[in-house]
Amino acid sequence: MRDARCAMPDAQCPMPDARCPMPNAQCPIPNIMLLTISTTRVPATDLGYLLHKHPDRLQCFPMTFGQASVFYPEANAEKCTAALLLDVDPVGLVRGKSKSDDRPLEQYVNDRPYVASSFLSVALGKVFSTALSGRCKDRPELAETPIPLTVNLSVLPCRGGEKFLREMFEPLGYQVAAKPLILDAQFPEWGASPYFSVELQNTIRLADLLSHLYVLIPVLDDDKHYWVSDDEIEKLFRHGEGWLNAHPAREQIADRYLKRQRHLTRIAVAQLAEADNLDQEKLEVYHQQEEEVLEQRISLNEQRLDAVMEVLKASNVKRVVDLGCGEGKLLRLLLKESALAKPSQRIEQITGVDVSHRVLEIATERLQIERLSPAQQSRIQLIQSSLIYRDSRLTDFDAAAVIEVIEHLDLDRLAAFERVLFEFVRPKSAIVTTPNIEYNVKFENLPAGKFRHRDHRFEWTRAEFQTWANGVAERFGFAVEFRCVGTEDAEVGSPTQMAIFTQCK
Ligand code: SAH
Repeated sequence: MRDARCAMPDAQCPMPDARCPMPNAQCPIPNIMLLTISTTRVPATDLGYLLHKHPDRLQCFPMTFGQASVFYPEANAEKCTAALLLDVDPVGLVRGKSKSDDRPLEQYVNDRPYVASSFLSVALGKVFSTALSGRCKDRPELAETPIPLTVNLSVLPCRGGEKFLREMFEPLGYQVAAKPLILDAQFPEWGASPYFSVELQNTIRLADLLSHLYVLIPVLDDDKHYWVSDDEIEKLFRHGEGWLNAHPAREQIADRYLKRQRHLTRIAVAQLAEADNLDQEKLEVYHQQEEEVLEQRISLNEQRLDAVMEVLKASNVKRVVDLGCGEGKLLRLLLKESALAKPSQRIEQITGVDVSHRVLEIATERLQIERLSPAQQSRIQLIQSSLIYRDSRLTDFDAAAVIEVIEHLDLDRLAAFERVLFEFVRPKSAIVTTPNIEYNVKFENLPAGKFRHRDHRFEWTRAEFQTWANGVAERFGFAVEFRCVGTEDAEVGSPTQMAIFTQCK
């Protein structure tokens, strides 16, 4: 018998008493949220192979927020149902976190333990990771076959109501049945809740169904979130592969999945539109918006980084070193780019080098390296080293960026740096930027004859920079091309000057 405190109506309980794995006092209900997946494809117990979970066993998985359990309330040749229970520990969730001042109780009294939310997606990703990736070593052909599947979500928050729920699943071929849940049966006057008991039916590959759930459950829940990492875009693309692009509500899905962080949504939407060329008009609008924001606020620093990124992206580089990386602004853009790119175009190794231990510490903090996914962590490396000494760790790079660094080197050390960069590191291409001293007259606050930064040992005119760069190119066997960065003035040129060196074959 189920526990007397169990809040789940009998009709909704997918666990006939005989098979309930958590009888009586152990029953975690109502502290659960429940998902069941059923099939009627004979022999239905093949579902166990597809999910990599044996139908006769209760299996538990520790999660950072509690525990996930998988069991089969029914398992026979005609019908097989797998259930995923989540026991979310609400106190564990907030342990060690600072309290919110305006709603101090909210972190203890909330719906998270009772509803399908991003915790369920995290659990799906962990517990059914093999199935989600479409792999099945025992029944590979079955993993590729659309089979009749039914999903039940006992409490799914649907901000946007049933209409929005249907807009999410129906374009993907699901039949949707939704029962609204009232807030409290004892107080009907409190009215409807945002929660629905939902049944979804489709004939579909299990991996596709799991990826739809993985993305769309948090989208429907639309819970507020304070921080979303750039990794989320990577996850959205990974799990949205093959369907999100063609979904009529893809922009809304991206927007909600990325918790309305406009800058992330813009990247995602632009990528989605670019991927299939479907919606060039919308893409234009987004690009224009981006440009407007840029024009209002863009700093020279950002323009410079964008100019560098443009060169790097155009040459499809795999291994990049940022020499004199400072606090890691370029590294950050490179990491983002590597998270977004298709595998064939992905930057695989990003190395930042700086002589200053302190700025590398700041870079480590700003890049939140320990919070990156293992894949992203493996791509990034920070090295403390001086650019005027040869360093055996710095070899085999497609491209080197040296952004606003040379002017920090004493002129009599420049020759040593040239050998390090062009002879020892010897990347296929190198981008060097430096201030154009002619432009300094345009800075109202800069007294005549002063450099832009106290640590600058020199600043060059366009002619001086080009003479240096042409000489280097010739001595070390590179071709060089010059570009302007920032608004160009007819008389004094642009604020930043850039040289792009390419190794001659
Ligand atoms: N490239 C970064 C930082 C530019 S500031 C950006 O564009 O934001 C210049 C950086 O060069 C500083 O972080 C400084 O510590 C570093 N630097 C100066 N001399 C160096 C040397 N000899 N070797 C390595 N880094 C050096």
